Amino acid sequence: MPGTNRQIRLARRPVGNVQPEDWEHVTEAVVPPGEGMFAGRTRLISLDPAMRGWLDDRPSYLPPVGIGEVMRAGSVIEVTASDHPGFRPGDHVVGSFGVQEHVVSDGRGALRIDPSLAPLATHLGALGMSGMTAYFGLLDVGAVKEGETVVISGAAGAVGTIAGQIAKAKGCRVIGIAGSAEKCALLTGELGFDAAIDYRTEDVRKALRTHAPDGIDVYFDNVGGEILDAALTRLAMHARVVVCGAISQYNNETPVQGPSNYLSLLVRRARMEGFVVFDYAPRFAEAAREIAGLIATGRIKLKEHVVKGTVDDFPETLQLLFRGENTGKLILDLT
Ligand code: NAP
Repeated sequence: MPGTNRQIRLARRPVGNVQPEDWEHVTEAVVPPGEGMFAGRTRLISLDPAMRGWLDDRPSYLPPVGIGEVMRAGSVIEVTASDHPGFRPGDHVVGSFGVQEHVVSDGRGALRIDPSLAPLATHLGALGMSGMTAYFGLLDVGAVKEGETVVISGAAGAVGTIAGQIAKAKGCRVIGIAGSAEKCALLTGELGFDAAIDYRTEDVRKALRTHAPDGIDVYFDNVGGEILDAALTRLAMHARVVVCGAISQYNNETPVQGPSNYLSLLVRRARMEGFVVFDYAPRFAEAAREIAGLIATGRIKLKEHVVKGTVDDFPETLQLLFRGENTGKLILDLT
């Protein structure tokens, strides 16, 4: 219906897995842009595991989404009207615009993108937050060097597929851990990983011994829990454990499961370090240039999992991440 803005708002704080009743589906009137602002129509919405953390009322790197607020989400919008000097109708803009069909913004945190450089979805994936996370997590926090052995969990996801391919481009031996035979075949086939471990059917600790006989130099962790614990037993001397995320823990109703094998950090003179991608914002352009170069030369192949739908499909689409039903970057396409 023209003139209306459908939105997904947080109705109540979830306990454990997010339930449909945790969301409120709301229709509001479209608001015209005020002075110095622009308005836009949402084209694509990024779905991210971090969204689960934003729903909990506990200290984090961003404040929690408030009850009754539009759900926070990164998205690509197309500008429809503007009184802002930096944005014109027809521009495509990436920003944290929330799960809603129409947006009004003062331009803070909004970034104009060039759709002729790459498809819009790629600006949320490899050239967006997922690619930035893979790049800085691996190169800055992980400090990978040519010839090293890199293990990546959540390897068939948005961050994992890019991190693994960057590590290959840097001359590393790369082992991915993922949740199905199909995902493992994708990793070692099309994406060029050296080995892959299906954590649902294999003993991860044993498989790591087979595939990384000399130990792991960099473990890029997206999942936490038991897989992190298994990787800790196989560290090489001076290994780096990159704490990117811990999706296996996000829906816990009990306290987060900590790594019981952390003393291997001592024995192996290793370090374990977390990071938040937003801290690297001043260097995003540098990373995007390098990733774009790797895409252009075919060394990064894009995996985008695009679900066509409406904002009302957001709650169910988000669940795909926690059920392992996405491969690569998960996006809700409203066009
Ligand atoms: P993603 O990997 O595309 O999607 C999530 C994947 O996690 C699923 O496809 C599933 O794959 C796996 N998974 C779900 N439940 C699991 C479980 N219980 N145990 C093991 N694996 C499980 O998501 P993404 O956007 O690339 O994010 C990956 C990680 O990076 C997340 O932990 C996220 O929070 C983190 N992250 C961190 C930053 C930062 O600044 N530090 C920024 C962005 C993202 P399988 O089929 O393989 O199970």
